Amino acid sequence: MAVTAVIGAQWGDEGKGKMVDLFAGQADLVIRYQGGANAGHTIVNPLGTFKLRLVPSGICYPGVTNLIGPGVAFDPETFLTEIAALEQGGIVTDLLFVDERATLVMPWHRLLDRLEEEARGDAKIGTTLKGIGPAFTDKAARRGLKVGDLLDKAWLGSQVEWALSAINPVLTRRFGVPAMSATAITEEYWAYGQVLRERIIDSLPLVRRFLREGQILVEGQLGVLRDPDWGTYPYVTSSSPLAGAAAVGAGIPPWAIGRVVGVAKAYTTSVGEGPFPVEIGEDATGDYLRQKGGEFGVVTGRPRRCGWFDGVATRYAAEVSGMTEIALTKLDILDGLSEVKLCTGYYIDGAIVDTVPPLRLMEMARPIFETLPGWSEPTAGARCEADLPENARRYIRRIEEIVGIPVRLVSVGPERNETITMPG
Ligand code: GDP
Repeated sequence: MAVTAVIGAQWGDEGKGKMVDLFAGQADLVIRYQGGANAGHTIVNPLGTFKLRLVPSGICYPGVTNLIGPGVAFDPETFLTEIAALEQGGIVTDLLFVDERATLVMPWHRLLDRLEEEARGDAKIGTTLKGIGPAFTDKAARRGLKVGDLLDKAWLGSQVEWALSAINPVLTRRFGVPAMSATAITEEYWAYGQVLRERIIDSLPLVRRFLREGQILVEGQLGVLRDPDWGTYPYVTSSSPLAGAAAVGAGIPPWAIGRVVGVAKAYTTSVGEGPFPVEIGEDATGDYLRQKGGEFGVVTGRPRRCGWFDGVATRYAAEVSGMTEIALTKLDILDGLSEVKLCTGYYIDGAIVDTVPPLRLMEMARPIFETLPGWSEPTAGARCEADLPENARRYIRRIEEIVGIPVRLVSVGPERNETITMPG
């Protein structure tokens, strides 16, 4: 039995898609266990470039089973659009399933996401407006709908009516917008259920079988710093991206998760609001990283905030989620810089801090940087550690020291083969 978790070690967008795609080549089952269609993965492989939102990243390998687990907020409309794009790209999607317990994203979730963000004004969270937060809110409030509800029209209708009995007063009285029609929504979602019927399953027997017989990969979304408990709350996502959450969101025994790969970019980015101590701001290096690294949101197109590698946040993420190793991505984006910086601590209110504190203090954090010499040679062609410039190797070693776990993989380009397996 072997379960590997691949999770984000920063604020999301670390290049997990490429890493999961790589690991998926050795997996029999790939599972998404949290999140929803709010964050995207980009996968580049010989079949083309695929932007995935809900579909697990193992989808590009024939014969690999892909599962959307119970912990996910499932948007059927996005899912069907994604399947259509994949099939158009020549990808076979027969082994793609969703657990009947996954929470449904409903039309009022998307509407509430927008209305609530607008109401927050300057304190907005910067959500992707895909309705994920409100869907998890309904789940916690015990009026959420489940994917399995799509298979029984009368039951579906009663669940929609029950949820709307709580939601419509909020829409009309709090936000002054028209109430939603239970009949229209039931018809729309019943139609989704008809198309998805064959893919909706009880995943427990499937997961149990692969636990006995195969390799399982669980794929996290976003990064540890967006965890609702451990992240920079309230600028967080609404389900846990930690590896431990896979035990719940995918039905995996906690003791079965033997390897936790934390994907970290060789610098740091963050999309949306919230404290981000290493941000480079408006200066030329920030813009250089943004342009060269293509740091714009997959779902929203928003420019990402760029900063140097945050050793404090990444070490914290490694400790909190039990990472066993780092997969370092986008090292090639730093090629050509005369110097590179690493954040080794924060100054907060006159003290040096080496962990991620609560928001009140994190808002005041100023980075303490260590500066290392950069490298001018391109790393993109490197295929083993010895191919890397000495200064790039030194940079990687320093990251290992600061974060406290080994860097096992280094990515120097978007393609599968642009990856270095480090010795040891
Ligand atoms: P994810 O959600 O964590 O997968 O992050 P993104 O969707 O932002 O993916 C990162 C982007 O960078 C994608 O376009 C990848 O193809 C690309 N990418 C991944 N690894 C590397 C790398 O090592 N070098 C470069 N240049 N691009 C990469």
